[in-house]
Amino acid sequence: MAYSNDKKSERCSFCGRTKKETNLLIAGVSGHICDSCAEQAYGIVKEEVKSKADLDLQHIKLLKPLEIKAFLDQYVIGQDEAKKYLSVAVYNHYKRLMQGSHREDQEVEIEKSNIILVGETGTGKTLLARTIARMLHVPFTIVDATVLTEAGYVGEDIESILTRLLQVSDYNVESAERGIVFIDEIDKIARKSDNPSITRDVSGEGVQQGLLKLLEGSVVNVPPQGGRKHPDQKMIPVNTKNILFICGGAFDGIEKKIAQRLNTKVVGYTAAVKAEQVDRDNLLQYIAPQDLKSYGLIPEIIGRLPVLTFLNPLDRGTLRSILTEPKNSMIKQYTKLFKMDGIDLKIDEEVLEYIVDKAIEFKLGARGLRSICEAIMIDPMFEMPSGKNGKLNVDIKFAREKIEKVNFKKLKVA
Ligand code: ADP
Repeated sequence: MAYSNDKKSERCSFCGRTKKETNLLIAGVSGHICDSCAEQAYGIVKEEVKSKADLDLQHIKLLKPLEIKAFLDQYVIGQDEAKKYLSVAVYNHYKRLMQGSHREDQEVEIEKSNIILVGETGTGKTLLARTIARMLHVPFTIVDATVLTEAGYVGEDIESILTRLLQVSDYNVESAERGIVFIDEIDKIARKSDNPSITRDVSGEGVQQGLLKLLEGSVVNVPPQGGRKHPDQKMIPVNTKNILFICGGAFDGIEKKIAQRLNTKVVGYTAAVKAEQVDRDNLLQYIAPQDLKSYGLIPEIIGRLPVLTFLNPLDRGTLRSILTEPKNSMIKQYTKLFKMDGIDLKIDEEVLEYIVDKAIEFKLGARGLRSICEAIMIDPMFEMPSGKNGKLNVDIKFAREKIEKVNFKKLKVA
């Protein structure tokens, strides 16, 4: 077909409509496209991108829960219960996404099971989340609930939780809609008082109501740059139906609520745990949804976090293992750092025990292990790279000398 070049006979190069027959005719280098063809083309592109994402999903090697747990075991010591729940949840998340691409079997819809992890700070919640992220084939992000406030107050809007997810997905909404979000410090949005009318509870119930919308699965408008929404910012609609939420929190003092519940329960013959069997040193293992409610989470939120699991406090043995066993344990990292300067590092077993003792003595937990190691290693790390000595043997005398110089109040981690 040949068209004359004068303006009147400009046509869409795809459907042949003349300018008059279209609402809009966009000119290209050597042709034109009309509004309806542009729209159709956009539809095709969108569908193609989606089926490509579905195809990618089909081709990934799906790790089975046992394999996921084995992967976690390489980096995180203990916490078998939490690992088991996480492995199953992540595995089911993939299965649910795959169901989306098998259109023939839509009768039984697999619903998502968001998770809540409860455990003292420094017991490995974030580490578990980060480790899971290493093996995922879907976008993953960690957000902190402490910055969230009710709309209209200082702080970030609840929708900003999804901004990070969009960012790690390069703003590909399709891909973000399959992602996993870890919300840390979820306990910080618990209702502070039983009587919300006394003061405005800006970071409490209002935020929980907002969060509920995300957890339930709905289309929310996400500010692409995060922070607060403002009127002239263009929002990106994101459907949270297939986004898996993993929440973590320390829930300081929740043991009291658990103990109260156990005490009242054990009187009745229906008690699941008998009074004499209760392990008072680790009450978190008995955590139940009603304890979260007593702590100040609204029942609707608890209902949307159906998988509830806990992390154990770290005992002496675990702390000792954390020093050397994980694939990228602290000691392995120091060894590597020294090796890069041609220095062979050897740390006596006695020193490792001493580091653990100090962490326990000063109630520093696993996070403290690093500050104690740093205190011991800082001088050799500073001096040795410029020296000639190719060997460093850290013995107990050396370690004691370094630690005794340190003000442990300074090492105290929040
Ligand atoms: P939480 O999120 O529970 O407050 P983190 O996961 O941030 O605690 O743990 C802090 C640090 O302590 C981690 O980076 C890791 O070095 C160490 N750690 C804590 N628990 C474990 C564990 N179970 N296995 C290995 N390292 C751990």
